[in-house]
Amino acid sequence: MLSFSKILFTALVVVVVWQGFKLFNRGKQVSSKEQPKQTKHEKKSQSKPVAHELEKCPNCGVYHAEGNAHRCED
Ligand SMILES: [Zn+2]
Repeated sequence: MLSFSKILFTALVVVVVWQGFKLFNRGKQVSSKEQPKQTKHEKKSQSKPVAHELEKCPNCGVYHAEGNAHRCED
């Protein structure tokens, strides 16, 4: 019986330490996760204008962004 309570106590300690470690790791991950996210976002916004392809209007020959509403001025 004494060994059983000892195991139970050990398990409790392990769970408490594990939970504490998990909490500590989570706080660490959030701060480290935010930095790559920011750089990723910057890269995305930088490559976005490059991704825009220009289309030549068959009517007036003006180059306009693909998908954008174009109106011929004549
Ligand atoms: Zn046009």
